[in-house]
Amino acid sequence: HLRVPPTLLRVRPLTCAETRRGDRRVVHSLGDGTVHVSAARHDATFGFSAVFDAGASQEAVFEGSGMRQLVELATDGFSCTIFAFGQTGSGKTYTLMGPLGQSEARPAAPALLGLMQRSFACLLEHSRSRGPGLALSASYLEIYNEQVRDLLSPGPPCALSLRWSKTHGFYVENQLRVDFESLEAIVDLLLQAPLQLSIPAGSRRRRTSAHALNGHSSRSHALLTIYIRSRAPSACPSKQGTLCFVDLAGSERVKDTGSTGELSVEANNINRSLLALGHCISLLAKPQGKRTHIPYRDSKLTRLLARSLGGSGVTLMVACISPSSRCLSETLSTLHYASRARRVTTRP
Ligand code: ADP
Ligand code: MG
Repeated sequence: HLRVPPTLLRVRPLTCAETRRGDRRVVHSLGDGTVHVSAARHDATFGFSAVFDAGASQEAVFEGSGMRQLVELATDGFSCTIFAFGQTGSGKTYTLMGPLGQSEARPAAPALLGLMQRSFACLLEHSRSRGPGLALSASYLEIYNEQVRDLLSPGPPCALSLRWSKTHGFYVENQLRVDFESLEAIVDLLLQAPLQLSIPAGSRRRRTSAHALNGHSSRSHALLTIYIRSRAPSACPSKQGTLCFVDLAGSERVKDTGSTGELSVEANNINRSLLALGHCISLLAKPQGKRTHIPYRDSKLTRLLARSLGGSGVTLMVACISPSSRCLSETLSTLHYASRARRVTTRP
């Protein structure tokens, strides 16, 4: 069956800094899944599966996002991908993981936990309620400057090769997969030096550099994949589903961030892969008969996401925006990008 991927919009509150300098709110939620952008020369309304505005709690976002159903589908063997996109500082990491100062490894207060931790908890509940349980493992990769790196492997980051095979499609060679059985273990894996596992922390290793928009700006795309294998009785084939969380690097243009030198190379790579992703999404959005070749090979990001974008997976898109007048042009571009994504149909 055809299924339109749910596209959610989250509008974060104005930050203290934005309020202090007198930024205006130019995005208003109208209820009913629509938002209205009103500024001097712009006046537009956009529709989404759901809109979460500044007052929405992390719990409300989780409960209203359909994440529970996605966890269930992944448990039943589907490939599910959740990706957060938007300008740097728009709340992607907050939505996925909560308010992390990325330099310090401190878990967020329970009420502020993001979609990831809530999904893990949900998954582990499923695992416990099923007779033979589920075998769970995780991999954590980043794409930085068009290089795929393993965030779980010890030692200095080294680039892994992205290969293609007829049976597996695109896959990363030699990526580390770590088994886990508890919420603590997977959260530690994600956030801080693991207690039980002798491997370094994933998120701390993620490439960040400070620039004008966000002190902890993420300069890489991060992909956390949970592999869920049902321990079926030996007679039945076992199913394997995946739940993949993609925290995309910021989409801002080079001139807004004042990036130069190495940073502008990063920004160009980020923009190139987001452009490739947008291109694939808009081609996939065309009616089936009018579809041409989808250029997944244009970037590492689109290769890694090919399966979930291309129709055999279930995708949940979370667009994040700032309500501030100063972010207007990036906000509009995120809203247009998200509107295109809404027209993609997939056949899980
Ligand atoms: P991104 O990952 O898109 O670059 P972050 O998630 O790091 O952005 O968010 C930028 C800042 O805004 C952080 O200080 C974060 O804590 C804050 N923030 C983001 N979304 C919210 C929200 N819904 N409520 C409160 N603070 C938020
Ligand atoms: Mg981030």
